[in-house]
Parts: sequence; structure tokens; C-alpha cells
Amino acid sequence: MRPTILFFLLLLLIILPSLLYLNYSIIQTSEEAITLMPEIDNNVVRGPVVMPQLKNSTIKAELGQSSWKLLHTMMARFPEHPTQDEKEALRNFIYLFSRLYPCGECAQEFQAILAKHPPQVSSREAASQWACAVHNIVNKRLQKEMFDCGKIADKYKCGC
Ligand SMILES: Cc1cc2nc3c(=O)[nH]c(=O)nc-3n(C[C@H](O)[C@H](O)[C@H](O)COP(=O)(O)OP(=O)(O)OC[C@H]3O[C@@H](n4cnc5c(N)ncnc54)[C@H](O)[C@@H]3O)c2cc1C
Repeated sequence: MRPTILFFLLLLLIILPSLLYLNYSIIQTSEEAITLMPEIDNNVVRGPVVMPQLKNSTIKAELGQSSWKLLHTMMARFPEHPTQDEKEALRNFIYLFSRLYPCGECAQEFQAILAKHPPQVSSREAASQWACAVHNIVNKRLQKEMFDCGKIADKYKCGC
């Protein structure tokens, strides 16, 4: 038999079924992973502050600037019409952020703010305005200048 014909026969009989089986196992494994994934535990997401007090004021200020930048940019790029899954992802992120924020006393204050002003996740606009408003609450407490939330989209670009 010619080598090319032999090769194609080999491919049909051995390699193709093996590839198909491998593909099936991968799909099965990822489906198992999804089934085994536990429900998100609300007690974990909404739990208490994790970090201790942050005494160094320079680190605290730098951390604050970077964190606000992250939060406002996240809102500027959040979908205009998010799915339920995307809304829950953002809501859970904010609550976990409030638990794990590296400045413990800031996180404590932020959790108190969240209790009165829960995250608004229905749209990009709602999320951006919410982040601007809670930042202004922190600004007021720290006796900083208020930001005009009407200008939020000019300051934090979607980059879309
Ligand atoms: C969740 C959180 C809680 C914090 N809690 C405390 C705390 O309890 N005690 C403490 O000492 N520090 C806290 N910080 C840090 C504090 O908010 C400041 O980040 C830090 O004092 C540095 O201030 P800054 O003047 O450089 O400007 P930042 O407040 O860091 O703001 C950075 C830039 O964002 C823009 N900006 C200002 N206000 C708004 C707004 N409302 N919306 C959009 N953009 C705005 C301005 O251009 C400003 O220069 C917290 C930070 C975060 C993220």
C-alpha cells in the first residue's frame, strides 16, 4: 500500500477518534467544573472588613488615588446595557472591594457608605454617577473639593 494512503487510513482509524474523545473529555470537564462551582456565598461577599488600619498617610493617599482611578474607569467602561450576570458581577466586586480595601479604616467607612448608598449597577450611567456620588461623600468627610458629577464622562473616558 502507498504511504500516503496508509497515512490517511491511520488518521481515520486512530488519530481522529482520539481527538474527538479528547475534545469530549475537555467539554465534559468544564461542564463538571461549572456544575461543581458553589453558589457565590453572600456571607463572604457582604462580610466584614479584612484589613487592619493603614497608618502611613502617603501610602493611604496614593492607594486612594489609584483606587478611585480604577473604580471610575471601571464604571466608564461598564456596559451601557448590562446583563443580569454583569450587574451581579459589578455589585459583588464592589462589596468585596469594600471588604478587602487595603486601608482598614477607609474600608470601614466605605462599608457604612455602602449601607446607605448601595451600588447602582443597572447601566454604565447609573454606575458612573453612583461612584462619583460615593467619592464625593468621602471627599466631604475628608474636607476635599466636591467634584461635578455632570462632568464624569469627560474625566473618565471609555476609550471605546
Ligand atoms: C473607597 C475609598 C475610601 C477611602 N476612605 C478614606 C478614609 O476614610 N480616610 C482617608 O484618609 N482616605 C480615604 N481614602 C483615600 C481618599 O479618598 C483619597 O484618595 C486620598 O486622600 C487622596 O486624595 P486626593 O486629594 O489626591 O484625590 P482623590 O480623592 O484620590 O481623587 C483623585 C482624583 O479624582 C478626581 N475626583 C475627585 N472627586 C471625584 C468624584 N467624586 N468623582 C470622580 N472623580 C473625582 C479628582 O480629579 C482627583 O484629583 C479612600 C479611598 C477610597 C477609594
